[in-house]
Amino acid sequence: MKFIPYGLHWIDDEDIKELNKILMGNWITTGPTIGKFENALCSYLGCKHSVAVNSGTSALDIAVQALDLPVGSEIITTPFTFMATSNAILYNDSKPVFVDIQKETRNIDPREIKKRITDKTKAIIYVDFAGHPCEIEEIKTIADENELFLIEDACHAIGAEYNGNKIGNFADMTIFSFHPVKHITTGEGGAVSTNDDGFYEKLKILRNHGIDKGAFERFGPKADWAYDQKYLGRNYRITDFQAALGISQLKKLHSFIDRRTKIAEIYNDAFKDLAELEIPMTKDYVKHSWHIYTILLKGIERDEFFKRLRSQNIGVNVHYIPIYRFSYYQNRFGIDSNDYPITEEVFHRIITLPLFPKMTNEEVDLTIENVKKTLYELKKDKNRK
Ligand SMILES: *Cc1c(COP(=O)(O)O)cnc(C)c1O
Repeated sequence: MKFIPYGLHWIDDEDIKELNKILMGNWITTGPTIGKFENALCSYLGCKHSVAVNSGTSALDIAVQALDLPVGSEIITTPFTFMATSNAILYNDSKPVFVDIQKETRNIDPREIKKRITDKTKAIIYVDFAGHPCEIEEIKTIADENELFLIEDACHAIGAEYNGNKIGNFADMTIFSFHPVKHITTGEGGAVSTNDDGFYEKLKILRNHGIDKGAFERFGPKADWAYDQKYLGRNYRITDFQAALGISQLKKLHSFIDRRTKIAEIYNDAFKDLAELEIPMTKDYVKHSWHIYTILLKGIERDEFFKRLRSQNIGVNVHYIPIYRFSYYQNRFGIDSNDYPITEEVFHRIITLPLFPKMTNEEVDLTIENVKKTLYELKKDKNRK
């Protein structure tokens, strides 16, 4: 039996045709296709601006940099995410302050945010885990009351909705990733969306070495060769052929999300009555975009369950190892995991099942069958002891 991965991209002939058109032309980078991709993203998201870059991590980095915070500022975030979220805070000489999560959605707990606010807190980065939006209204209220910036890490959540509005319009800046396991892919790639003109201008400059092309006046009226470096930017540019792939992928996003949702519903239905696990929940005021499907095991040893499913070629995974557990973070901050009881509990019980639009019904059935069989076997083993 073939290995079923937890996630997989979908690239078809249409995508390749669009990609080839650009590869055979004269503009393979810094050309007009990037702006077209950004416009397509804006129409999809319903936002004013977007800036496409070479990864979700780069997008996070320039978003934090655009806030222009004093060195040593604190930014509140979740420990239950990919480390790129909090690394972006460190790149910019601020300090990540982790707060505990909510068990049902694995999203940051607004009540815990309130407890960790100090004089130095300047922003919150919240992550829509698995594609389920956070408690955005509560988070916005806290931000307004304490004059904090908001960055939404929506790398899991393109196409998700909160109170009927698309993710990409709630925070000061919203981050997307186009890595192959995410909803749409450009190989590597990412974007920041914003409705703020000031942040937009800054983000464009930051992705391109900090170069401001509008600064001709500093060098005399006819200095067409002139440009200025305004900030310490980097080369975070995406290529035109990646942008062409992005435009083509975006056309399929709706059907990708439909298929992901359908598979999640099949899983939910198959697992809802099992006493050995908890299926993921969806609040009634959100639209889930189903980047990953995670369950919490009950009275079943996760690592043993993981091992057995992997041996049956089911590509289960663990999302995530809490960031404060990594040696880099331990050495630098020495965080006590006891401060994060819910994160720890979820981390020990959680497992990710395969979910991607190309997954066949047979693969879905096979996964369900193996999950059920393994739960049964592990329970039997336990009772025998
Ligand atoms: C994937 C991901 C990132 C990083 O995106 P890349 O495009 O891989 O750099 C950041 N945050 C979260 C929550 C992610 O899932």
